[in-house]
Formats: sequence, structure tokens, C-alpha cells
Amino acid sequence: MPELLVIDGLEVAYRTRRGTIPALDGVRLTVRSGQAVALVGESGSGKSTTAHAVLGLLPRGGRIVRGSITFAGRDLTRLSERGWRAVRGREVALVPQDPGVALNPVRRVGDQVAEALVVHGLATRRAAPSEAVDLLARAGIADPRLRARQYPHELSGGLRQRALIAAALAGRPKLIIADEPTSALDVTVQCRILDYLGELAARDNLALLLITHDLGVAADRADEIVVLSRGRVAERAPARELLAAPTHAYTRQLLAAAPSLADYSPRPPREGGPVLVEVSGLRKRFGSITAVDGVSFSLRRGQTLALVGESGSGKSTTARLLLRLETPSAG
Ligand code: ATP
Ligand code: MG
Repeated sequence: MPELLVIDGLEVAYRTRRGTIPALDGVRLTVRSGQAVALVGESGSGKSTTAHAVLGLLPRGGRIVRGSITFAGRDLTRLSERGWRAVRGREVALVPQDPGVALNPVRRVGDQVAEALVVHGLATRRAAPSEAVDLLARAGIADPRLRARQYPHELSGGLRQRALIAAALAGRPKLIIADEPTSALDVTVQCRILDYLGELAARDNLALLLITHDLGVAADRADEIVVLSRGRVAERAPARELLAAPTHAYTRQLLAAAPSLADYSPRPPREGGPVLVEVSGLRKRFGSITAVDGVSFSLRRGQTLALVGESGSGKSTTARLLLRLETPSAG
């Protein structure tokens, strides 16, 4: 497979009031067309900085000191802002970490995806709304017509993340950079979103740079793993090899810290005092969508109740109803 993205000797520094912070110190990595590469490392190791450098999105004060980022044979570090706009979204697209922040809360989901299509010159204003619905459907959203008319807060976290994937796909990029795309979601939705990204990549021969601090996720989803530590590549190997025989001490630490419930032991339940809250048959609908459907539980004074469930299962709606907070879209 041809090399699509080659980062070589990349050094990035942030200038702050307290001096210059070196964030990347000679990073080298390659992503081939259609390949999935995971960029793994602890917080502050430089994962997002790498992503932002590739997208020409370094914040103020951040700058490339040295090195090259070659995409499809072109050095991106030499591009003007105008040149960047032709690459960003069209050749390389970002699926950001927090769908809550990345979507505009006061615009309908469909309009935001349609806007991405128009900006990239891939649809006329007239055709964009129906193409946006198609993209939402391609991103695995059931009932895409309804979702397109809704506002971001009316969608669960998992659906918002899918809407962002739809927007990222709008420009038909060759490389998708997913910066911890699922860290705000529960585990089962995380899996589905990551499976979905993987299927997409395979179907359309997209390359994927998957940023995560979870080596388990990286091992399941990537062909190759690149381990960053303090702005340097500590180790780089095919996923299986790296897990079977990590050569770097830092990778072994990451492996040891991989989240697992294997050694979980439950705490003894607390009796609690008199019943404080009694919920019985709680129901809530938003238009045609049933958010909460007959929830009953009681909570005693001094007790802690955990409300657990996948994204969109009605946890937040239940909490808001208990607190008598009106949801903005109350139907
Ligand atoms: P996380 O897992 O927490 O997202 P990361 O691996 O993405 O971490 P980066 O955000 O790339 O790490 O940060 C790399 C280094 O650059 C850190 O030392 C960080 O403090 C610094 N840094 C990042 N953004 C800025 C900024 N806007 N201004 C100054 N320093 C920054
Ligand atoms: Mg980050």
C-alpha cells in the first residue's frame, strides 16, 4: 500500500507566558492508504498536538519548529492558510473528541452536515439537505430524516458522535483522524462507534489515525500501534507484536494500566435510612421518541444509587425529571 501520510522529525512547541513548552520532539510515523494506525500515550504525550499539526489546526502559540508532514506527496507544513482549507476536511478530516462542543447547539444537525457539504463544494445549497440525510444514514443513524431536523441536545452522545462522523465524511477524505472519538461515551456505544469507523475505513479504503490512551482499544482496532511518550515515539509495531512483546518499559506500563474489570470486587451495600425518593412508572416522551418508559426505583437517605446504561438510555432525562429541570426540547 502506498504511503499516504509521512510525518518525519516533527517538532512542535507552544509559546506561553511562562516560556516555551516542547510538545513534540522528533515524531516519525507513517500511515498507508487504507491502514488503521493507533496513536497511544498518556495524557500530555502529544497525541492531539500531532493531530492538530496534521490538520493545520495548532492553536495560537503552537508552531512547527522542524520536520515535515507529507500527505499524498505534498509537504503540508509549507501550505498557506488557503492551501490548508483545500486539504482540511477534503483530504484529511477530524472526528473530534467531544461531540457536545464540536456541534453548534443552536443549529439543526442536518443543517450542520449540509453546511459541510456546501463548504467543500460537494453539493449545491438546494441538494445539500437531502444529501445530509443520506450521510446521516451512512453514519448508521436510524431515522435520519427526523434526526436531521433535531438539535444536538436532542441526540444522545452516541448519535451526536455519529453525526460528527457524518460531517467528517462529507468532504470524502482519504484520511480520518479520530482524536479519542469515544471518550465521552459509554463502553458499549464506544465499541459500536469504533466498529463503525473501522467498517467505514475498510469499505471506502480510508486510512484511519485513531488517537486513544487505551491500548486495548488500539489493539482491537489498529493494524499498527505507535506509542508516544513525552513528545517522542517510544515504540512502533504491528498491534499483535506490540502486545505480545512490548519492548519499551513505557509500553509495559501502559499495558499494565489498561482498564479492566477482572479484579473488581463489589463494595458491601449500605442499608440507608428512610426512603427519600420514590420513583414509580416515570415516563417521558420527546415528540415521537420515548426517552424514559416506566422507570421505578427508590432511594433511601444515605444511599448511593448508580444509574447505569448505554448512551441514550434515559439516564440524564431521568435525573432532570427528578430535579424538575425542564429539558430544552420538552415535548
Ligand atoms: P490528552 O491525552 O490529555 O489529550 P495529549 O497526548 O493529546 O494528551 P497534547 O494535548 O498534545 O497531549 O499535549 C502535549 C503537550 O503540549 C503537553 O505538555 C501540553 O501541556 C502541551 N500543550 C498542549 N496544548 C497546549 C497549548 N494550547 N498551549 C500550551 N501548551 C500546550
Ligand atoms: Mg489529546
